[in-house]
Amino acid sequence: MAYKEPAPIKDHMNPFESMMSRFNIAADKLGLSEEIYNVLKTPYRTVIVSLPVTMDDGSIKVFEGFRVVHSNILGPSKGGIRYDMDVNLDEVKALAAWMTWKSAVVDIPYGGAKGGIKCNPRLMSSGEKERLTRAYTQHLVDVFGPEKDIPAPDMGTSPVEMAWLMDEYSKMTGRTQHAVVTGKPLVMGGSLGRTEATGRGVMISTLNALNRLGLQPSQVSCAVQGFGNVGSWTCKLLHEVGIKIRAISDVTGAYWNEYGIDIDAAIKYRDSNNGTLEGFGGATPISNEELLTSDVDILIPAAKEDVITSKNAGDIKAKLIVEGANGPTSAKADSIIHDKGILVVPDILANAGGVTVSYFEWVQNRVGYRWPLEMVNKRCEEIMTTAFNKVYDTMLKYDVSMRIAAYIVAVDKVAQTLKYRGGF
Ligand code: NAD
Repeated sequence: MAYKEPAPIKDHMNPFESMMSRFNIAADKLGLSEEIYNVLKTPYRTVIVSLPVTMDDGSIKVFEGFRVVHSNILGPSKGGIRYDMDVNLDEVKALAAWMTWKSAVVDIPYGGAKGGIKCNPRLMSSGEKERLTRAYTQHLVDVFGPEKDIPAPDMGTSPVEMAWLMDEYSKMTGRTQHAVVTGKPLVMGGSLGRTEATGRGVMISTLNALNRLGLQPSQVSCAVQGFGNVGSWTCKLLHEVGIKIRAISDVTGAYWNEYGIDIDAAIKYRDSNNGTLEGFGGATPISNEELLTSDVDILIPAAKEDVITSKNAGDIKAKLIVEGANGPTSAKADSIIHDKGILVVPDILANAGGVTVSYFEWVQNRVGYRWPLEMVNKRCEEIMTTAFNKVYDTMLKYDVSMRIAAYIVAVDKVAQTLKYRGGF
C-alpha cells in the first residue's frame, strides 16, 4: 500500500542538537563541572551494523542498523528499537540520551539507549521483518543482555519483533532469557498493562496538568497527532475520563469533529483498514498541520519528532501540550510556546509510562512472578504522579519551563550518581 507521507515543516535542527540545547540549559542551572558535563553529553557506546537479509523475491538487501548506549550510570541501558526510513545516527543518539533523562526523571534504575534500522516496515512481509530482526539481534548479541542493554518496541516495531529478538538472543546464548527485552507478547513474559502503558502515562500526566491549571476533564477538548500505540491508547483513556477528542490523525491525514470523535469506532475502523485511518467517516478530513493549530484546549503530539516548530508554534491555540512522542517540539519553538504561557508536559516525563511498565516487566521476568493488572497500573500511576510533582516543584523553584525542570531533575540525579561511582 502506498502512503502519502506528509512533509513536516522542519526547523533544520537535528534531534541531537535539540536535545543538547536543553541539556546545556539544565547543566548551566545546576552549575555542572566541565568534567561531568563532558561525560554526560557523550554516548557510552555507538554501534553501526550492516544487515544482509534475503527478501521474499530471493534478492539480498543490506539494511543499516544502529544501537547507541548513551549511559549506563544508573543501571543497564534501556531503549526501544525503531524501524523507519528516517532513522539516522543523530536521531538514535538523541533518542538514546532522552532515554537516560527519562529513566532518571521517573527514578527507575536504568541508563539510556536506542536502536533503529533504516527500513520501511509497511512495505516488508512478516518473513522479511523476522529475518531482519534476527540479523540485528545476531549482530548486537554482545551489546544486549538483561544486565547490560534491554531493548523494547518503538515506532514501527511491536511485541512480535520483541518475541523474535528474545528467541534469537536466547538461542545464541544457550538459555531462555525473558528479561533481555520488554514489550513482549503476554504469553511469553510480557507484562499486563505494557501495551497501553505509554498512553496511560500520557493520560495521567494530562490529568495532573489539568489539576494544576484548575480545569476539569469534562470542560476541555483535545487533539491527538498519531494513532498508533501511543496515540490511540491516549485517545481511548482520555475519552474514558471525559475529555472530548476533537481531532485525531495518522500518516494518511487528520480528522476533525467539533462535537467529539467516537474513539472506539476510530480504533475499530483502523484495525479493519490495514492499520490506517484513511477514509475514516466519523469526522471531516483536515491536514496534520491544521490539527496542530486547531481549536482545542490540549494538544498531544504522539507521532514523531520535530512537528511543533518555530514556524507553527505561534499559531497553537491549546493551553496545554502533553508530549506523547519523543522530541515532537523543536528547541527553537520552546521559547515561543513558553512566552505564550502554554504549559508543556515534556516528553521525558509525559511518555515515561512505557519505560516504567517496561521496568515492571523486567522486574517480573527476573523474579519469575506475574503482577496483576491493578498492581501494574497503581504503581505506574504512583511513579508518574510523584515524578510530575517533583518536576512541577522544580519548575517553580528555578523559574524555568517544565521541560527544563525535567532536565534539571534528570541531569542532577545522573550527575550525582556519576560522582559517587567515579572510576576515571
Ligand atoms: P506507532 O508506529 O505505533 O504509531 C505511530 C503513529 O504515528 C501512526 O499512527 C502513524 O501513522 C503516525 N505517523 C507517522 N508519521 C506521521 C506524520 N508525519 N504525521 C502524522 N502521523 C504520523 O508508534 P508509537 O509506538 O505510537 O510511537 C509514537 C511516538 O511515541 C514516537 O515518537 C515514539 O518514540 C514515542 N514513544 C513510544 C513509546 C511506546 O511505548 N510505544 C514510548 C515512549 C515514546
